[in-house]
Amino acid sequence: MHSLLFQMMKHINITAKIDVCDYAELSPQDKSAVDAAKEATQTAYAPYSRFQVGAAVRLVNGTIVAGNNQENVACPSGLCAERTALFYANAHYPHAAVDTIAVAAYANGDYTDKPITPCGACRQVIVEAQSRYKHPIRMILYGKKEVYLVAQITDLMPLAFAEF
Ligand SMILES: [Zn+2]
Repeated sequence: MHSLLFQMMKHINITAKIDVCDYAELSPQDKSAVDAAKEATQTAYAPYSRFQVGAAVRLVNGTIVAGNNQENVACPSGLCAERTALFYANAHYPHAAVDTIAVAAYANGDYTDKPITPCGACRQVIVEAQSRYKHPIRMILYGKKEVYLVAQITDLMPLAFAEF
């Protein structure tokens, strides 16, 4: 019975292509976004994790808005850098589509060697911004030794929850 069921099953294979480069290979525009994310790590409020994350949202009009993680002693009350920056951008520029989000992290006195990736909740929120503006949101995930370039957020969150 079990083997018969297995034969009837279809499969969906999910793949994501992520380009890997280093900072020097980025375009001047992308370097600016990464620089803003790196700078934002320095004013993060992260006394509990001591893991300072910065995010920079570049809108289609070229405006860059940065944010960082804001922690709270009541742990779930804080917010990640990505959502801090994105919500600020959407609040102040509700008619400008989001083009790119750069993320960087600083811990133990230096930027991380490897890129950090957004948590699931942030991915869900970024997916909705992509749908809202009908414009792919690129992600630039910074690490000192390598940088991940993601063509659109849905590459990082296949089968995201959506009403549509
Ligand atoms: Zn997050």
